[in-house]
Amino acid sequence: MGFQVYTSREVETDEMNFQMLNFPPHHPAREMQDSFYVEAEGREDNPILMRTHTSPGQIRAMREASAINPQNPPPIRIALPGMCYRYEQITARSEIQFNQVEGLAVGEGITFADLKGTLTDFARRMFGQDARVRFRASYFPFTEPSAEVDVECFVCGGKGCQVCKNSGWLEILGCGMVHPNVLQNGGYDPKRYTGFAFGMGPERQLMLRNKINDIRYFWGNNVRFLEQF
Ligand SMILES: [Zn+2]
Repeated sequence: MGFQVYTSREVETDEMNFQMLNFPPHHPAREMQDSFYVEAEGREDNPILMRTHTSPGQIRAMREASAINPQNPPPIRIALPGMCYRYEQITARSEIQFNQVEGLAVGEGITFADLKGTLTDFARRMFGQDARVRFRASYFPFTEPSAEVDVECFVCGGKGCQVCKNSGWLEILGCGMVHPNVLQNGGYDPKRYTGFAFGMGPERQLMLRNKINDIRYFWGNNVRFLEQF
């Protein structure tokens, strides 16, 4: 689909990890992503932290591209993979470190229809050509409108089972149209350019697909687990 891999740093500033992505200081959405701070003293307005998502790479990629030609920045189509870190209680469902893969497309005339087409095609390649997909309205600070994408449960075929908690659907990713403030912060004029972004967790997808019931296995270094893949 023409997405090029873009790798970005794991240690970030608060400005890149939050502020440029439309999380102002003290914004309640920050509580969705409790952070590991590396250095805060003396940097109260811009502490250094372990990135909580791969999204700061969106700003870095847009700035690199728009710096080349500020009047006429080129279109972007990238995939951003990498490790992310959150200060959370470790449970069977959540880890303090995990991978994310994020996608970003920016250009003239990109619409929500492009987002739906791209993600529906992705879901079918990942979960089978017959996979049914649905989009649910959601909220993220850096996209507007935002949505979460579910795929029909491939364990029970949508009838309802333990894996899908009897809903018939499994949540696979979050997405939305890039917020105008985020485009602006990347050097793209939001009156002229639009874009979409999506993000997903490979560990969670693998857990769904291979019926792995505890995320801690990925870091347990048990060869009997790892050798299966
Ligand atoms: Zn099910």
